[in-house]
Amino acid sequence: MIQVKDLYFSYSQSESFALRGVDLTLQQGEWLALIGCNGSGKSTLARHFNGLLLPSSGYVRVDGLDTADPGQLWQIRSKVSFVFQNPDNQFIAASVEDDIAFGLENLGIPREEISLRVENALAALELKKLRNKEPHLLSGGEKQRVAIAGALAMSCDYLVLDEPTSMLDPQMRSSLLAALSKIHKEQGLGILYVTNIMEEALLADRVAVMESGNVIREGTPKEIFCDRDFVSRHGLELPPARQIAAMLADAGYREFADAVTEQELMELVLCAG
Ligand code: ADP
Ligand code: MG
Repeated sequence: MIQVKDLYFSYSQSESFALRGVDLTLQQGEWLALIGCNGSGKSTLARHFNGLLLPSSGYVRVDGLDTADPGQLWQIRSKVSFVFQNPDNQFIAASVEDDIAFGLENLGIPREEISLRVENALAALELKKLRNKEPHLLSGGEKQRVAIAGALAMSCDYLVLDEPTSMLDPQMRSSLLAALSKIHKEQGLGILYVTNIMEEALLADRVAVMESGNVIREGTPKEIFCDRDFVSRHGLELPPARQIAAMLADAGYREFADAVTEQELMELVLCAG
């Protein structure tokens, strides 16, 4: 479990707090989406999850290990991997497979074990055909998959992704999300998924909403997106399927009142037909 408690953070003493008393928990195996307007503090909070940033006050604990304790940081980083918006500056080696193996070699893991883990990670992210390619020459979506494969090979328990699809075209976006859903299910990874695409937040078990440096609400995607007052009051959008369902509900088709996902909408439409 990653536990954030009464977390305050400012980038410098002269600046106001970017985080103001955040309480938030990510359970092992849980997919938590973090949404909120630009500048609300999502990236700043996400960077606390593996000690890239350290609290001004309050704490962040990863399976009981405090990120503010320099002696624990190494272990924390091996538990929590961070995937950036643009992974370019995360690549080190000249080929995809060497890049995935790189972190493992540094840990002194035996060669056979490394090969096995690299093969598994390549397979999980559908990267086998690209294994000999140079990471820098890959498409944006492929780079993201390599970054996630590297994290997976390290056997991390938690993955933090900060708007990982923002630079991808729609097709790459859905293939990345499918790969992520698969490894989440199969490997029981805990995921903190920062996004400003509301449809992506629907993939999560739970959604946390940030505003002005704090988490102002947590709930299931349905709880959050069916509360229309809340969504409009806080400048959020509705996912497309929810928007259509809400219009149909307004037009008197009450059975659409709490449909949120494309699949729910589709099933109701087919029933109505
Ligand atoms: P979000 O990811 O939700 O858009 P951020 O966490 O990037 O929000 O930003 C939260 C606040 O912290 C904003 O007011 C932003 O201007 C400020 N901020 C973000 N990064 C830095 C930085 N490196 N130095 C100073 N202030 C920053
Ligand atoms: Mg951000």
